[in-house]
Amino acid sequence: MFKKILIANRGEIAVRVIKTCRRLGVKTVVVYSDADAGSMAVEMADETVYIGGSAASESYLVADKIIDAVKQTGAEAIHPGFGFLSENPAFAKRLEKEGIGWIGPNAHAIEAMGDKISSKKLAAEAGVSTVPGHMGLIESTKEAVKISKEIGYPVMIKASAGGGGKGIRVAANDKEVEEGFPAVKAEAKSSFGDDRVFIEKFILDPRHIEIQVLGDKHGNCVYLFERECSIQRRNQKVIEEAPSPLLDPETRKKMGEQAVALSKAVNYDSAGTVEFVVSGKDKGFYFLEMNTRLQVEHPVTEMISGVDLVEQMLLSAYGEKLKIRQSDLKINGWAVETRVYAEDPYRNFLPSIGRLKRFSPPAEGKLGNGTVRMDSGVREGDEISMFYDPMIAKLITHGKDRDTALDTQAAALDRFYIEGIQDNIPFIAAVMDEKRFRSGNITTAYIKDEFPDGFRGVEPTKLQETQLIASAAYVHGFVSRRAQMVSGRMSPVPTAREDWVVILGDNHHPVHLELGEDGDAHITINGGKPHALVTDWHPGQHLVEGVLDGKPFAVKFADRTEGYLFRHRGVALRALVCTPQVADLHARLPVKEKPDTSKLVISPMPGLVVSMDVVLGQEVQEGEAVCVVEAMKMQNIIRADATGTVKAINVKAGESVAADAIMVEFA
Ligand code: ADP
Ligand code: ADP
Ligand code: MG
Repeated sequence: MFKKILIANRGEIAVRVIKTCRRLGVKTVVVYSDADAGSMAVEMADETVYIGGSAASESYLVADKIIDAVKQTGAEAIHPGFGFLSENPAFAKRLEKEGIGWIGPNAHAIEAMGDKISSKKLAAEAGVSTVPGHMGLIESTKEAVKISKEIGYPVMIKASAGGGGKGIRVAANDKEVEEGFPAVKAEAKSSFGDDRVFIEKFILDPRHIEIQVLGDKHGNCVYLFERECSIQRRNQKVIEEAPSPLLDPETRKKMGEQAVALSKAVNYDSAGTVEFVVSGKDKGFYFLEMNTRLQVEHPVTEMISGVDLVEQMLLSAYGEKLKIRQSDLKINGWAVETRVYAEDPYRNFLPSIGRLKRFSPPAEGKLGNGTVRMDSGVREGDEISMFYDPMIAKLITHGKDRDTALDTQAAALDRFYIEGIQDNIPFIAAVMDEKRFRSGNITTAYIKDEFPDGFRGVEPTKLQETQLIASAAYVHGFVSRRAQMVSGRMSPVPTAREDWVVILGDNHHPVHLELGEDGDAHITINGGKPHALVTDWHPGQHLVEGVLDGKPFAVKFADRTEGYLFRHRGVALRALVCTPQVADLHARLPVKEKPDTSKLVISPMPGLVVSMDVVLGQEVQEGEAVCVVEAMKMQNIIRADATGTVKAINVKAGESVAADAIMVEFA
């Protein structure tokens, strides 16, 4: 085995690779940029090398700097993680020339699979079923329309060099091809510097199901079953699970064997993934592309197979023979992964940047009937910058069947507390409870279908509201008792009666609490029947675990100057708790009017101004693009809310803006 390797990546995946290396006694070197100085991966590595500026183009993407770091530290090989240089065949070739090991597949395999058109041809030759369509390049819009007609609508227009959901468009008729074809060509040119485009059939009720493969340098290759990754937004995965609720053993075996056949056709010698689009209608499956790297969602495969994929990558890169045979592999239970993103689910999933004032993930290990695994690369106090991907953690749960894995995931999300940035936990928690997701009847359009107007939060059920009110009153009562004890005005008494009013929105809920010992209490809300309540409050984790009328629950909360913010499943509610007298006053306060912002163009997030598309004095129509702001690899077109004349422009292209910064003012 290697004695020392270098990890050419950052964040969660760098930490993930270090964990396996530690277990195997392999020393690690981590390279880092300005933004990552002092990061968790840097702290955990045995050695570190600074490689430059925060922008990836100045550090993680500069092959020379990474190779220098290898020479400087005497590392024997590089693990590229995913993204950055992981699928760059020129880099893999160069390492070979320099005699540096590569913990990934051979350069030839990366190259062959790096292009969607050529890999599709290779797949067809290897007997893999591919999406019906046109395997050649398409030059003109006229030709595109002709070919689309032949294939039959709807069709998908794709950039051959595309990736990350960019350079893809669905067209349902001639007109949409006329618009879509030049648009995909232009996007492919600007994003990938390669404007080759092809067209294939759009598969109805599409599900994204992919097969994990593992190969060695001796011609062996196995498949480690599938992952279902149909829950996507903007063609990016949000929730993944293994196995897939759709596949039967026969289809699984066919897909697995085809994935192995394709891998063998390119002498695949590492961990890789063969992606398929599968029709929910008839389980017809079609090759999409092969990702020649470790995949973000690899942990769900590890949880159901018991195989450490990073360990296997290290072994095969070292030249060892694969010890796992296909017949050894069995699916054990069910696993689900959710990607926790620094983004605002209530504002169209816009990226969110800032300092993690609180970051308190659920504990790893047993939870209820399942198990929790956390793959994260951040700690409390870390800064989430605009330079990299918005994914900050992956929460993985495992159970004996799908319901257990999902229940455990929901319970773990209830125990995950983040403050300082916006996060998508309420959204993924809402999905965990949603009926259609639970049924397993999903497609890649799931988020669009079920949340057509975006995510607006979840209305609490009567039970959830009771749990939230009870927790709010309990926590507030506790805090005020403690404050009184500190001030010496009250001696600690184990039992007490208290009256509070919990204000949720405009609704006042009078609460009567009868406190017993050890967190036992009886609570009466709005003068109704008393509920039996047992609570276990963990102030450090911002967590109340309780049992209300025999039903266990967990609620996270933030203590804010404007009250408490309670979160439970997909529900987020702001609660004010006060004495009946103060509540009475509160009801009589005049309602503050919202300031008029209709004449302002405000940046919805911190980021970099890519372009300013208006000039002083210009008449701008409602809905017209005013400027483009970029953060975390995403460009957002900011449009005018109303028609007006530009009176002031406060930022220009190339400048950074803060969230809520006023960028343009209208007269
Ligand atoms: P997967 O198929 O594993 O879901 P994704 O398309 O989500 O793959 O990308 C895998 C990872 O690689 C993501 O974390 C993403 O941020 C990262 N990534 C993708 N493209 C780039 C890039 N150009 N530079 C750096 N990281 C990238
Ligand atoms: P990327 O390189 O961006 O990952 P893919 O070719 O893997 O591009 O496609 C991204 C997503 O688009 C897939 O996960 C799948 O959901 C959807 N998709 C791709 N091709 C088709 C198709 N022919 N029919 C239906 N959906 C498709
Ligand atoms: Mg893909």
